[in-house]
Amino acid sequence: MCNHRHLGSCLLALTLAVSTSLIASERPNIVFVFSDDHAPHAIGAYRGLYESLDPTPNIDALARQGMVFRNSFCTNSICGPSRAVIQTGKHSHKNGFMNNGNEFDAGQQTFPKLLQKAGYQTAMFGKWHLKSTPQGFDAWNVLPGQGEYYNPMMLSPSGRQRYEGYCTDVVTDLALQWLKEGRDPDQPFLLMCQHKAPHRCWMPPLRYLNLYDDVEIPEPDTLFDRYTDNASPARNQEMEIDRHMHLVFDLFMDPPDGFDPQKEVGTDKSAFRNLQKMSDEQLRQWHAAYGPKNEAFRQANLNGQDLVRWKYQRYMKNYLRCVKSVDDSVGQLMAYLEQAGLAENTVVIYSSDQGFYLGDHGWYDKRWMYEESLKMPFIAKWPGVAAPGSTCDAMIQNLDYAETFLEMAQADVPEDMQGESLVPLLQGTTPDEWRKSLYYHFYEYPSVHMVARHNGVRTERYKLIRFYQFDEWEFYDLETDPQELHNQYDNPEYAEQIEQLKQELSRLQAYYQDDSDQQVMPADWQNKYRLVP
Ligand code: CA
Repeated sequence: MCNHRHLGSCLLALTLAVSTSLIASERPNIVFVFSDDHAPHAIGAYRGLYESLDPTPNIDALARQGMVFRNSFCTNSICGPSRAVIQTGKHSHKNGFMNNGNEFDAGQQTFPKLLQKAGYQTAMFGKWHLKSTPQGFDAWNVLPGQGEYYNPMMLSPSGRQRYEGYCTDVVTDLALQWLKEGRDPDQPFLLMCQHKAPHRCWMPPLRYLNLYDDVEIPEPDTLFDRYTDNASPARNQEMEIDRHMHLVFDLFMDPPDGFDPQKEVGTDKSAFRNLQKMSDEQLRQWHAAYGPKNEAFRQANLNGQDLVRWKYQRYMKNYLRCVKSVDDSVGQLMAYLEQAGLAENTVVIYSSDQGFYLGDHGWYDKRWMYEESLKMPFIAKWPGVAAPGSTCDAMIQNLDYAETFLEMAQADVPEDMQGESLVPLLQGTTPDEWRKSLYYHFYEYPSVHMVARHNGVRTERYKLIRFYQFDEWEFYDLETDPQELHNQYDNPEYAEQIEQLKQELSRLQAYYQDDSDQQVMPADWQNKYRLVP
């Protein structure tokens, strides 16, 4: 299943034999660059809609030097829970962090603690998002909560400190500083460099405020999806570019006369607050860039689908500008590893906590088990082990990362971790018993964006989703319907496959010991829980 494009099989076997003995004597360093909400289809190496815009030259360079996992998925498509799964190698119901509203029990077993015990130095910089104080790190400096794009406050063992500059750059500088001066050069290390970008509110760095100004961003086919085939939750969400994306808070239009931010409900006001913390010079450049664009928007006086299209363009340009800052970070870290002579014995991984809707189905945000938010990027360079320019199509999950890092460090993987080490896949072999189906469970409801709780199972070809609070189901044939526009749950031609997937869902729930899907919504839920009138 893992395809090495540039190596013959004999040469490959030889390389693996040599590399396996090499890693037995020398344990690799691990640099884990992790962003927030970076969908694979906004990475050049994943060949998405935006490939022609060359959004990620440095991440693509990493891909050319390593392996791209094309079927990489999360277990619960939201920021904090994804991080908790990675820390523990356990599904949300086992690690206790099911929603962003939870607090991570940092006292539990995590892979950084186990790496420390195995003789690794561990460091964590940037977006932590688990509320509790980080444990298991020799050095850490994190963004409290969601963090801020400009001049972010950061929290370290020595207290809170505000850093002047753009968040991605600040976090990259802290990571580089630790590599240069903070670590003991005689020990292997784990460095987690975790960015806020490109999370909402999509505030780009000053250097990219005008990037893509003269470009028309391609539109996804499903920008005007009306969810006619879906179960009811898709029609009751609150994440549409049309109805829920805010011109002032999300897209940086100047507030109209008499605008009262307090009166705007159900929206994220973090950009508005962050603009008030920017320096005069930062604000001067900001307004110099957005002022003329905002004036052009006012002159155009758009409405209906034209307005949605404009919002999509503004959103995607800002999103990709933020992506560019993350890509710069990957480039800087890789350049330093090269320059310091560390590149040959350092695994570099790029991933992000889940996928994201880039106007797909008319949405922004994540949460759903549909492909755009279920997928995660996972690209790994491991010199001498993962063949350069290779791809892997086996189904992997963030559930597997902890086990992978432990095996790389030649440390034992505890029995109670629920994923599988990716090391064999990186070596070019997919074990016969590798997973043929994956389990998903999203919990955060009723809450922001109003995505109903659901669990489900995905195989290579099919997907079954159960919105258990409403007793509604969806079933998709991904081979004939990759955009998931045709719910086949009531189609008798699929009755057999649906029954098989229902059995598989039960099997996976028993295997992972998850019975946390019992909640049912009351009939008058709309009166009780709707956030946006
Ligand atoms: Ca996220």
